[in-house]
Amino acid sequence: MTPATWLHFAAATLLAGVPALASAQELNLYTTREPGLVQPLLDAFTAQSGVKVNTIFLKDGLTERVGQEGDKSPADVLMTVDFGKLVELVDLGMTQPVTSDALTAAIPAHLRDPGGNWFALSLRARVLYAAKDLDLTEFHYEQLADPEWQGRVCIRSGQHPYNVALISSYIAHHGEAAAEEWLTGVKGNLARKAGGGDRDVARDIMGGICDIGIANSYYMGQMLSGNGGPEQIEWANAVKMIYPTFENGGTQVNITGAAVAKYAPNPEQAVQLLEYLVSPEAQKIYAEANFEHPLDPQVEVSELIGQFGTLVPDEMPLTEINTHRAAASALAEKVGFDN
Ligand code: FE
Repeated sequence: MTPATWLHFAAATLLAGVPALASAQELNLYTTREPGLVQPLLDAFTAQSGVKVNTIFLKDGLTERVGQEGDKSPADVLMTVDFGKLVELVDLGMTQPVTSDALTAAIPAHLRDPGGNWFALSLRARVLYAAKDLDLTEFHYEQLADPEWQGRVCIRSGQHPYNVALISSYIAHHGEAAAEEWLTGVKGNLARKAGGGDRDVARDIMGGICDIGIANSYYMGQMLSGNGGPEQIEWANAVKMIYPTFENGGTQVNITGAAVAKYAPNPEQAVQLLEYLVSPEAQKIYAEANFEHPLDPQVEVSELIGQFGTLVPDEMPLTEINTHRAAASALAEKVGFDN
């Protein structure tokens, strides 16, 4: 190649690159998750796939926003926590079904919509925090109602979605009548009014107000990491985390999950992102950032969480649990759980 033809070649190559850049692939992610949690994941996805991700962070009002935008919505992927929220998106007609072997292979059937409208990306276990010196290494949710724990239990509002999901699971496992008896027992065992947040369970165990309580698993990681300030490290150090199970099942889990939006302008890239998010590489990055549990038990959890043992998720389908939500909320009301 002479210098002149080389220059010509180089220029042509450069020009050939321009249209590719102009049509650079991208997608729009609407998420209720804090940007700090998802950004490392999205950067890794972009580096690997070349697909740029524009993130719209919506602390609240995801459904309202997508609803207002209607069929002009630029949203491709909708990411949120709580399976109830994902089912709501489906019910509002804001999602589309996805067929992907990679997704069905990576996500157990009970953690995704049978119709392919939403998928779990990581797990949030509803666990027991117990005073560290308590002689207790395993626990069943059913035991929360035992007289042994009278005046010793702390928990947040019975109407909070985390507890509504737990009560719904209880109904799914044992039926409504048994759930009412149980919840009445739990209410009778409360050391203080149901309320506050999950981290307050650890705080109040440290303060001697209660001995055990129910909270989400990732808060233990958040507290121990010091992200919430030095006093929360002390709260966490006062307790141990035990994975309770149903007598006839595993540990109740909720999820961070995602769906492809009904009017997604870039549906292929949207599926590509979901498939990336369930890959072992992404699962590890995400678990490290948010202290949630990866879908695959082979993928390591954050070290701060890993010390408390292994999560064996309950296998009751989330869609089945979801059918009991209204009954669960009504039950919390009926037994005066928050009074
Ligand atoms: Fe939370």
